[in-house]
Amino acid sequence: APVKELSLSQAKSEIKPLREKLIKWGKEYYEQDNPTVEDYVYDRAYQRLVELEDQFPELKTADSPTQRVGGAVESQLTKVRHEIPMLSMGDVFSIEELMEFNQRQQENRDVKVKPEYNLELKIDGLSLSLVYENGKLVQGSTRGNGTIGEDVTANVKTIKSVPAELPEPLSIEFRGECYMPKEAFAKLNAKREAEGQPVFANPRNAAAGSLRQLDPKVTAQRELDTFMYYVPEYQKLGVTTQAEALERMRQLGFNVNPNNRVVSSREEIEQYIDEFTAQRDRLTYGIDGIVEKVNDLDTEVALGNTVKVPRWEIAYKFPPEEQATVVRDIEWTV
Ligand code: NAD
Repeated sequence: APVKELSLSQAKSEIKPLREKLIKWGKEYYEQDNPTVEDYVYDRAYQRLVELEDQFPELKTADSPTQRVGGAVESQLTKVRHEIPMLSMGDVFSIEELMEFNQRQQENRDVKVKPEYNLELKIDGLSLSLVYENGKLVQGSTRGNGTIGEDVTANVKTIKSVPAELPEPLSIEFRGECYMPKEAFAKLNAKREAEGQPVFANPRNAAAGSLRQLDPKVTAQRELDTFMYYVPEYQKLGVTTQAEALERMRQLGFNVNPNNRVVSSREEIEQYIDEFTAQRDRLTYGIDGIVEKVNDLDTEVALGNTVKVPRWEIAYKFPPEEQATVVRDIEWTV
């Protein structure tokens, strides 16, 4: 039933099992790298929970999956604290919803937002933090629950696209995505199948499972790659926009995805979405949407974050491929 038609007690009895289900799926996905349901199933249940909590704010709790980033950090890897939290990201599923998001941003009473955005591909991997001191890589870590992540420094050092040393003696953190290219994923799963080992559900989970290893030798065999896209302390690089930050990271020797584009109109945004929806299958890495970021970095900081997501960026998610398969199957059987 639509949430508007529910009584408080009906909402309450729907929320409890819904949260339990999402927590279980989150555990399988974030902690065990082994999801048992497709992402769109998770997203739909999550969306329903958001609607229920919006309609009945008195039922919101701090431990709800809508208020938390990722999962618990219970692996045997050493823990690290993220002084600047690593957050999740809000998402929309249509261009109309994206325009509404932008409109709300324009209506922000405290911050004047220039509608200039940097569009990027949403890489389907897991977040990675890289800390450099005097130009030397000293720490690599996962997002974990946003505040506490896992130390994967030794593993990260086996990834070819991660510079061990920068051409400048910078002390600074970079963030981005660690992913497994499609070909490496197909090869890995074929090998695992031949050896009678369980296969990974998708490249994202394969990347997460490969990076979160206790033995770096295992990671070294997994052909992981990276695209870096974020510098929390951008002032240290002397840049003022996201597009400049990407360029600067490229110059420093990081792998930076070449497909970002600065835009300011709905037409340009639609064009970008159309282009990459069409090209998606031809890319050598998985993407599950596009990310729109306010290009001016001081404005980003002024907009800030909620407990879970930044207010200056949003993901437009592609329609699920899995669902398309289901639709095709139905058409076949009819
Ligand atoms: P998310 O992964 O959808 O989005 C946030 C992340 O996007 C960031 O942390 C970052 O790592 C990544 N990203 C990729 N490219 C980026 C770019 N260019 N700029 C900035 N960030 C970029 O959010 P989330 O909260 O980590 O997880 C939610 C997702 O996980 C949903 O897609 C959901 O379906 C899936 N999930 C699935 C299950 C399941 O059981 N199938 C369970 C839990 C979560």
